[in-house]
Amino acid sequence: MVEVVPPLERECLRCDRRDTWSEEAATWVAVEDDGERLTGRPHCLHDWDINGSFNPIAE
Ligand SMILES: [Zn+2]
Repeated sequence: MVEVVPPLERECLRCDRRDTWSEEAATWVAVEDDGERLTGRPHCLHDWDINGSFNPIAE
């Protein structure tokens, strides 16, 4: 039996934003590095380094 493990981290290839998956909030949250949130550019159309077909939020 194969268990699908969703990615727990993702990184934007364009602006270097890094997110981690929060089980509690059920959403992506920006990673903090030295107290600074790596949120990247505000208007970036993030291009994540994870499988594009994976979408944890059912739409
Ligand atoms: Zn980005």
